[in-house]
Amino acid sequence: MRTIDEVRLQVLSTVRLLGSEPVGLSGAEGRILAEPVIAPHDVPSFPNSAMDGFAVRADDVASPGAILEVVEEVAAGQIARSRVDSGQAIKIMTGAPMPEGADTVVRVEDTSEGNGKVEIATAPEAGTSVRAPGGDVKAGTTVFQPGFRLTSAHIGTLATIGMVGPIVAKLPRVAVMSTGDELVPPNSAEMAPGMIRDSNRPMLISLLEGAGAGVIDMGTIPDDAGLLRAALGEAAAEADAIVTSGGVSMGEFDVIKSVLREEADVEFFTVAMKPGKPQGFGSVGGTPFFGLPGNPVSVLVSFEQFVRPALLAMQGATALLRPRTVGLAGEDLESDPAKEEFIRVRIVDDHPALRVVQTGGHGSHLLSAMANADAFAVLEVGVSSVVKDDPVLLELFNAAATRAAS
Ligand code: AMP
Ligand code: MG
Repeated sequence: MRTIDEVRLQVLSTVRLLGSEPVGLSGAEGRILAEPVIAPHDVPSFPNSAMDGFAVRADDVASPGAILEVVEEVAAGQIARSRVDSGQAIKIMTGAPMPEGADTVVRVEDTSEGNGKVEIATAPEAGTSVRAPGGDVKAGTTVFQPGFRLTSAHIGTLATIGMVGPIVAKLPRVAVMSTGDELVPPNSAEMAPGMIRDSNRPMLISLLEGAGAGVIDMGTIPDDAGLLRAALGEAAAEADAIVTSGGVSMGEFDVIKSVLREEADVEFFTVAMKPGKPQGFGSVGGTPFFGLPGNPVSVLVSFEQFVRPALLAMQGATALLRPRTVGLAGEDLESDPAKEEFIRVRIVDDHPALRVVQTGGHGSHLLSAMANADAFAVLEVGVSSVVKDDPVLLELFNAAATRAAS
């Protein structure tokens, strides 16, 4: 048996970088930056007020109680016409450029105004409540390095420096197919005895889309060498990667394995992981090929461990893996010590630490229990149990929201 790390290293050393392309800001969310972003100018580009208040000279307000003449009012987007001379103040709004002569802003709460005068109750240090040019971004510096996954805040920052077409990695196109004689399409109203609906393909399509891939849906392929050969040929010609499910386990009819072994460069092996022990990986006509197991939970766990990191690596991403943290077991957890086990758990409390309980049994066909999970409790090789209230390693794959509002 190989370890998960060994298999992932092999996968990551096989996949190649895709090219790059510019993208508009409205489509940039989730894309991986392919070139460094260098700031063309400072942000803020001019000194401005951080508060609604009065722009003053610090020397004039060295002790509390100073009374200054208010010579003008300036809002964001305006430039003061006059300068602030000794004994004077300009009423200023947040974001308005600092007037000539002023070096400090006194917030409105610390003042009282009337009859063209303002009394300053405090004695702020020079520079208080003034936003310095370049305080956020300095001209000429690298704001973001390649490999970053663009989030909303990146998009906002790009907008603020006028970079409306960042260069990002091209998205992988991934062909997906389910294999198995027992499979009927999910929309089948009636099924012959022994048949099941193909749940892996819609799930994989959603996983692939979540990883940014463009999906080529190749449908359901029966366990038939000719049909599989044709589908693989088509997939290899069009896709940057191919993902199949089913047909890789030990007792499986040999059709799929023999076609892939003999006519492509694909190996079948076992990995010390549960679920997801049988795997196939290699290439079909130079296109990376992932032969995932058939059981739906195995599909999801294998996708997380191998396919998603590979798709991100193809885009040059620096972060490839889901965050892991230590939580607390809300109940006893059992594991096969020969394998790294991914137990599906739900977060039931988050204070003082994430506390988790299982959402169902260990069976790799228990997909609805997988759906109710927020995380995997990861019990590494050599670990056979974690006792209630003891620390447990968690891999968070669905932490978008785990708590109800109170
Ligand atoms: P296999 O790896 O082909 O031996 O399949 C293992 C188990 O997963 C069997 O119970 C299959 O019926 C099931 N299975 C295979 N493909 C799918 C699929 N696309 N959707 C749902 N279950 C599947
Ligand atoms: Mg099968």
